Amino acid sequence: MNIKKFTFNPWQENSYVIYDDHSGECALVDMGSTSEDDNEELAAFLEEESLTVKYIMNTHLHIDHILGNYSVKQRYNAPLLAHENDEFLIENAETYAEQIGFKLDNTPPSIDEFIEDGQEITLGDIILKVIHVPGHTPGSVVFYSEKNKFLLSGDVLFFESIGRTDLIYGNHTTLVNGITSKLFAMPDDVTVYPGHGPQTSIGHEKGNNPFLKHLC
Ligand SMILES: [Zn+2]
Repeated sequence: MNIKKFTFNPWQENSYVIYDDHSGECALVDMGSTSEDDNEELAAFLEEESLTVKYIMNTHLHIDHILGNYSVKQRYNAPLLAHENDEFLIENAETYAEQIGFKLDNTPPSIDEFIEDGQEITLGDIILKVIHVPGHTPGSVVFYSEKNKFLLSGDVLFFESIGRTDLIYGNHTTLVNGITSKLFAMPDDVTVYPGHGPQTSIGHEKGNNPFLKHLC
């Protein structure tokens, strides 16, 4: 099991390639690439590792996490997986981009397959469990590999921080409850790969996250 991180776009968003060495299967998670250089950097890596893209997946559908979906969909033609509750964010992407002064040069593709809480996604020997943790967005999910002890936390949990909840349909209480009941039930040595910023661990966040440590 391997993880490769790319940090793309003005929001410094982390895009991840999760891949299985034996089968060469990979998933592209939260592709935020915006330029030809970004796309070529990603393509060169996939080629070097001889990887086949099985899925394009999103932890949620905020604009900084979907900017690269159009180009990877064109190039690799894999299904896009995300939670149904975030579908409205794709529909509003163009308007939202205009509001923040960002010019979209493509229409972000729609979801091909809805994923649900408890579902398992397989990449060779890797099993990723989908866990629904709303609050940052209504359709936010995290991807958890119990066997390989890692978590792709999207914008739910960051290094010593949590996702913002002041955007449309955000809910702070829902987010905090989801993290404490679902993520903090995981072992301390699970490595957390967030949507922004450096990696962390469940144990570190239990002890040091200022939004959560008084709760556990
Ligand atoms: Zn977000």
